[in-house]
Amino acid sequence: MATPTAVPGPVLAVSAHAADFVWRAGGALALSASRGRQVHVLCLTFGEKGESQGLWRQPEMTLDRVKEVRREEASRAAKVLGADVEFLDVGDYPLRPTDALYDSVTATIRRLNPAVILTHPRVDPYNFDHALTHEIVLRARMVAQAAGHDPTSRPIGAPQVLQFEPHQPEQCGFVPNLLLDITAVFDRKAEAMRIMGAQSHLVAYYTDLATRRGVQAVRNGGSRSITHAEAFQRVFPTVGGELR
Ligand SMILES: [Zn+2]
Repeated sequence: MATPTAVPGPVLAVSAHAADFVWRAGGALALSASRGRQVHVLCLTFGEKGESQGLWRQPEMTLDRVKEVRREEASRAAKVLGADVEFLDVGDYPLRPTDALYDSVTATIRRLNPAVILTHPRVDPYNFDHALTHEIVLRARMVAQAAGHDPTSRPIGAPQVLQFEPHQPEQCGFVPNLLLDITAVFDRKAEAMRIMGAQSHLVAYYTDLATRRGVQAVRNGGSRSITHAEAFQRVFPTVGGELR
């Protein structure tokens, strides 16, 4: 009898705003969920001020209404991808690095004990909320590893941190070293993207990007069957027992 393959540990995506996880990592999340992994999305804000252009064009819009719509959209998108979602609602543009925010992210990391964390790249001169989210995640990961932090929960191991692709990668120094084949789940990502109506102008852009990354995946030795991919850049080295 074949030994059942162990399902790898949980995947945590930390998204500065309510839709970032959909555009930049929706395929990775759907792929992980389709293989039985627990997938959790932590949205620090709803992107209510800075990333809800479509809603602010509507008459008599209010901040509370924008948040409500973004919560509803992001929750539906996460469900399509097979992920749980949690919102901290700490306010965007600008995101502010409070002690409470650091503590909340640390608590989520401790509770979930992820095998891998996906988040924004370290540098983004267009979007300091994104760069700050990267720093918050790395700091929270460090604290979550500390043996002396919060005796009511257990220290985590050493989850890889994968930076997902920013909107303008060259200006962010983003150099991918993982092209993830998301061909099998691209229909899920496309459906999730269409749900994010407040930023509908991005759907075509991120569909084209996935196609280009898919072509590059094949050129880098991937299967010829790959039609769509997402790019990631690791923060930490991978560990192995073979040269490859
Ligand atoms: Zn964002």
